[in-house]
Amino acid sequence: MEERNNCVEMDETGGRCPQPALKTPDGTFFCIKHLGLKDHKIASPPNWVLFQVYGGESMGERLSASGIFKTDPDRDQIDENHLADAQRVGRYAHKYFKFFKKNASGVPIFGEGGRHNVGGITECIAEMNGAGYRWVNVHWYERETKNKKNPRGATLVCGFFKGEIEQSLSLSASDEELVRDYFKGTYQHLHVWNNPPDPEDGIVHAVLLIGHQENNNPKKDLRFVDGLWFVAPVVVIQATEKLSVS
Ligand SMILES: [Zn+2]
Repeated sequence: MEERNNCVEMDETGGRCPQPALKTPDGTFFCIKHLGLKDHKIASPPNWVLFQVYGGESMGERLSASGIFKTDPDRDQIDENHLADAQRVGRYAHKYFKFFKKNASGVPIFGEGGRHNVGGITECIAEMNGAGYRWVNVHWYERETKNKKNPRGATLVCGFFKGEIEQSLSLSASDEELVRDYFKGTYQHLHVWNNPPDPEDGIVHAVLLIGHQENNNPKKDLRFVDGLWFVAPVVVIQATEKLSVS
């Protein structure tokens, strides 16, 4: 199947254009409507990036034994907030989750199917650090999964922020090592959601990383590119060094 990105133009919500896009000769992506524009207004970088690692029972056990803050989010309330956000910016909240009966206000940058077998995010985070983003918080919560053999799941959430904020990351060295283990390796599924601007939090992007595997030499990984997000091939230069080309 053709791997796709959606259009990089900003739409009228102040978020990102939700249309599937054609790759231009210079390697960027515009939909049919925006392809011919003379003056492009590219979607703004996010204020927040939330990396969300979805794991199973073993990840829950590791996190339970750690000092990482555990939360108990109200899933129904979050879903209602997504509905309200979609209505606020005039988007159809059921466009993407027809079968799950869930709401969404954002745009899935890699389409509804996302991407598969994408490498860890260590280099993506280094790229974000270089662009001025700081890792400011981390928490996790328990979650039921659809997998009957492994019904108890956990989600680890790491918040990165660019701008003035009083929060700073508070983690022991061993807990930080535990979290960073989940930044390495490969994910079976990747989704990036670009949400429309929120009056309080600004633009929030959510990066969903599902099915973590410790290592299997990924051939592609995630690039931040000012919040436009691309999945690019990894070219192995030496055994210990890798570089991406787009
Ligand atoms: Zn477009």
